[in-house]
Amino acid sequence: MMTENRYPVLEIDLGKLEHNLREIMARCAASGIQVAGVVKGFTAWPEMARVYERCGCPYLASSRIEQLKKLREAGIRTPLMLLRVPMLSELGDVAEVADISLQSETETLRQLNAAVEKAAKDYKNRRAGGERETESVEPAGSGHSEVRRHKVILMADLGDLREGFWDRQELIRAALEVERDLPYLELAGVGTNLTCFGSVKATPEKMRELLEIAAQVEETIGRELTYVCGGASSSLHMVLDGTMPAGVNLLRLGESVLLGDFLGCEMDFTYRDVFTLKAEVVEVKDKPSYPSGELTADAFGRIRQYEDLGIRRRALAAMGLVDYGSYTDIRPRMRGIEVIGASSDHTILDVEAVKERIHVGDVLEFDIRYASMVYLTNTDSVRRVFIPADLG
Ligand SMILES: *Cc1c(COP(=O)(O)O)cnc(C)c1O
Repeated sequence: MMTENRYPVLEIDLGKLEHNLREIMARCAASGIQVAGVVKGFTAWPEMARVYERCGCPYLASSRIEQLKKLREAGIRTPLMLLRVPMLSELGDVAEVADISLQSETETLRQLNAAVEKAAKDYKNRRAGGERETESVEPAGSGHSEVRRHKVILMADLGDLREGFWDRQELIRAALEVERDLPYLELAGVGTNLTCFGSVKATPEKMRELLEIAAQVEETIGRELTYVCGGASSSLHMVLDGTMPAGVNLLRLGESVLLGDFLGCEMDFTYRDVFTLKAEVVEVKDKPSYPSGELTADAFGRIRQYEDLGIRRRALAAMGLVDYGSYTDIRPRMRGIEVIGASSDHTILDVEAVKERIHVGDVLEFDIRYASMVYLTNTDSVRRVFIPADLG
C-alpha cells in the first residue's frame, strides 16, 4: 500500500472552479452566448466535470472520445461534444458516445451518418431483444418515436491553418449534403478555431467572416442554424470588452475558466488559484551554481548553459518532468524561489533568497500553467485532492 499522504499532490478547489465558470457563463449569457465546457485540460476528471454539469453547460467537450466515454460511464448526463475532427476508425464510438462533433471532411460526414444509423439499429435490436438497458445510454441516433440525430458543426478555417474547410464552396456543398442526404446527422451550425497553430488572433473581423459563412449556409439550406461557434478562450476577450459581433452564440472554453486568466482578457472577477501543485523537499544544501567537471549533455541530451553565481542554497523537490512536462510551466508561490531546472523525477530550486525558510520535509506550493495540467492530471504518480464546493 502507498501511504495516504504521499506527494506530489494536485489540489483542486471545486468552489473556485465553480465561481470562475458561473462568472464567465453569466458574462457570455449577457451577450447571448452559451459555453461548452472543455474538459480535456484536466483529462475529464468526473469530480470536476460535475461542476460544469451543475452550472448548466449545454455541452461538455473534449478532443478525445475516450474521455467522453469515461464521462458517460461516470454518470454525466450533459450532452457531449467531440472537439477533434474524428478519425474514420473511431466513428462507431463517436456515434455511440458523442451528441455533437466538429467536422471538416465530407467523407467523414458520410461515414458518420452510416455509423449513427448502425448504432441506432443496434440499440433498437438490443431493446427488442429484451436486453436490460439499465445503465447503457441511448446512442445519439437511437430510434425512439423520433430519431435523435448526431449534431455536427462544420468548421471553417479562417487562417489559423489547423482544422476546417478552407474552400468556402466546399463547406457549403458539405452543409447542403448533410441537410439533404444524411438523415442521421443534424447540421447544427458552423464554427471556427483560432490561435492554435497559426497564432491568428480572434478578432471581430474574423467573427464577422464566420457570420457571413453562416449566412451563406443558411441561405443555401433555407433555414436558420442553431449555432455559430466562435472559437475557444482566445475569443473570450471580445465578450468581456463588448466587441463580440451579435450572432456568435457558442464558445468552447477550457483554459480561461480553469486558470481564471487568459492572454488579452481583463478578468478581475476570477480566481487564479483553482489548482495548487504541492511537492515535498528532499534535499537542501549550499552548492555551487556552476557544475564542476567536463560538461556534456544533460539527462535529456540537451546542451545547457549555466551561469556562475557562486555558492547558493538549493532545494530539491520530489517531482519532475514526468509529472508536469516542462519546468517552465510551474511557478513557486513563495516569492524568492526560482525553478532552475528539472529531470524526470527531480525539480531543482534556487532558494537562496529565502534560505532560512526552506527545510527538508517542507511542502512547497506551485501555480501551474495549462500545458502542465494535462500531464499532472494524466498520471497516477500525482495524488489528486478535491476541496469540495461550499454548497450552502
Ligand atoms: C482545446 C480546444 C478548445 C478549448 O480551448 P481553450 O483555449 O482551452 O479554451 C476549443 N476548441 C477546440 C477545437 C479545441 O481543441
